[in-house]
Amino acid sequence: MRSEKLHFALQACEEGGVDFDDVAALLMATDEDGGAIRAGAEEVLLRYCGSKVRFRGLVEFSNVCRCDCFYCGIRAGNREVQRYTLGREEIVEAALWCAEQGYGSVVLQSGERRDEEFIRLTESCVREIKERSRSARLPRGVGITLCVGEQTRETYARFFAAGAHRYLLRIETTSPELFAKIHPPRQSLESRIQCLRDLRETGFQVGTGVMIGLPGQTAADLARDILFFREMDMDMIGMGPFIAHRQTPLGKQIKDDPEGKRRILDLSLRMIAVTRLVLRDVNIAATTALQAMHPLGREMGLRHGANVIMPQATPVRVRRNYQPYEGKPCMDESVTQCRGCLVERIKGLGRELSADDWGDSAHAICRINRKI
Ligand code: SF4
Repeated sequence: MRSEKLHFALQACEEGGVDFDDVAALLMATDEDGGAIRAGAEEVLLRYCGSKVRFRGLVEFSNVCRCDCFYCGIRAGNREVQRYTLGREEIVEAALWCAEQGYGSVVLQSGERRDEEFIRLTESCVREIKERSRSARLPRGVGITLCVGEQTRETYARFFAAGAHRYLLRIETTSPELFAKIHPPRQSLESRIQCLRDLRETGFQVGTGVMIGLPGQTAADLARDILFFREMDMDMIGMGPFIAHRQTPLGKQIKDDPEGKRRILDLSLRMIAVTRLVLRDVNIAATTALQAMHPLGREMGLRHGANVIMPQATPVRVRRNYQPYEGKPCMDESVTQCRGCLVERIKGLGRELSADDWGDSAHAICRINRKI
């Protein structure tokens, strides 16, 4: 039987008046109540977003990064990583392959760089992908999401003018204390929040997300993260479990703990479900990191309210060099195998695959329509 607290929290979600106590109650509900939360999230997903799963072909085009986030395997300070940056033609070809497969959207992701050479490469790839992907099936060309870190307003404006229309910048945590523990002092929470604001003012549909299961993180921190997504009016959310990487300062402190891993997976799925209940019409990704925790992790994410999947489109020869966390799956499968595997997984859930569609979130579409 549902506890009274859970009953009122679910009702508050239904009525759109959810507060911190409600979100915390949903996150901390017992495993017994977890079934009702998951079912509620799935129902909200179907009502506000439909049953379609959106594909975003993921092209990790460079692992060079100027930052030193303490949890990340491709941080600048990790000398054991073989660095790469794909050439323009290879990036464009990877994105065009996605468009031909009917993905409708691609994500161009890299470490963070702010030099002119990098900005120009990104800008020219976006422009060329847009131009060359226009077809009868995709008259506006393939949708492009960028995930290339904190940049200046001017750079965001250049990327937007080139044709990218969505941008993902994860906040990782909204707790100032936790943020300071997992980043070097020159990286700040304020600067990241300002970037999210700049992106929205530039015209992008904006996404963010957090890591779940960070050492010292509490349910109250995660509840505040969800309220932050709402306050910032985010269009898309990409969250994943914290998975230690041994070549990082944070990873070196973490001991192997299978029971702890299971708890983090459960909490990650609960975060997806509660985010869906609170935000309702945003896009939420079932991230690859879920599959690193469990072979069916991405399916589980979809069953908890997620509606976006990012099939690998990074060339296999460099894929092993892009590992922000350990145990990243899909390292050796060809892009075609990745596609086939995910299509089967989605069919197995009885969900449909969206084709030749940018797959913007219902939330973004409503906001844009309000302005027109
Ligand atoms: S998390 Fe992003 S910004 Fe931080 S080190 Fe890794 S790639 Fe760079």
